[in-house]
Amino acid sequence: MIGRHWLGFSLVLLCLLYTAQASPGDAHPVYRSCVTVCERDGCVGETCFAQCNYSSHGASHDSPWYTQEPLYQRWKQWGCQSECRYFCMLAREEERAKQGYGPVKYHGKWPFKRVFGIQEVASVVFSALNLYAHFHGWLSLIILLYYKLPLRYDKKTYYEYTPLWHIYGLLSCNSWFWSIIFHSRDVDLTEKLDYSSAVALVGYSLILSILRSFNIKEEASRVMVAAPLLAFITTHILYLNFYKMDYGWNIIVCVAMGIAQLLTWAIWAGVSRHPSRWKVWVPVIGGGLAVLLEIYDFPPYKGYFDAHSIWHATTIPLTYVWWSFVRDDAELATSNLLKKSK
Ligand SMILES: [Zn+2]
Repeated sequence: MIGRHWLGFSLVLLCLLYTAQASPGDAHPVYRSCVTVCERDGCVGETCFAQCNYSSHGASHDSPWYTQEPLYQRWKQWGCQSECRYFCMLAREEERAKQGYGPVKYHGKWPFKRVFGIQEVASVVFSALNLYAHFHGWLSLIILLYYKLPLRYDKKTYYEYTPLWHIYGLLSCNSWFWSIIFHSRDVDLTEKLDYSSAVALVGYSLILSILRSFNIKEEASRVMVAAPLLAFITTHILYLNFYKMDYGWNIIVCVAMGIAQLLTWAIWAGVSRHPSRWKVWVPVIGGGLAVLLEIYDFPPYKGYFDAHSIWHATTIPLTYVWWSFVRDDAELATSNLLKKSK
């Protein structure tokens, strides 16, 4: 639960991170003229880019496909723009540092230093560790349920929430996988995949928090609770992908669902006599405190470690505590059911 809480909150933060489109850095005339000159001549200072040697025939993107430039030319054009923006940003930041100014954002993002072509290396590494922590937690639950605890005669587990935690494990791993890809290279497609996965996880986590904390076990009741939420989450994902990538609205949706599940778990942990309830408290409180990092949003230290990446780092230990709670819950439920049946 905590992990989920925590994960849900992490994802809320993720939703929050990349919202701004225009920033002080890219609004400055020196940066703008640097990018314009670079896209025309293909160079920033001594550094020149092969991607910028494309010939433009003046065909616009709205004209028929057969009058447009070949796809590889447009890829080159896109590559040229991202190289120019990156090197103009580095040049501009160097200038600003000499004048004693701190970093500013460019196109909604802090000036990160690339490592092997990876944009935000710290966030990529921490996302990968989160993915590993969830995979490890999920696998340990599977081993506990199917190899250590007794099974029913039909080979099913006694624990009633087994399939729900499997879906949770799958959505968590999926979400962190796309987080790795998105932080490596931020383009339209990777952004949509990352946002959609995050919304799916936060939404599903809310459903799971309600089902588990209210102890809803009947299939019909579960469907009644899940159906309206699933319909809303699906509509929201379709809206973001195929109608409008509305960052402001997405933040509201993610924060609302994140807070709702956090409160659900907090209240449950407060009133429950579950022996492992502290394992819910730790991720709830830890996840809540970690949100402060996103609100504070400091620039990358040495060009690598910004607030968002540190936030991703804090969720790694919380994930272990969370999955430990899930294992304890499975063990307790199984032993209670076995006692009853004797
Ligand atoms: Zn992130």
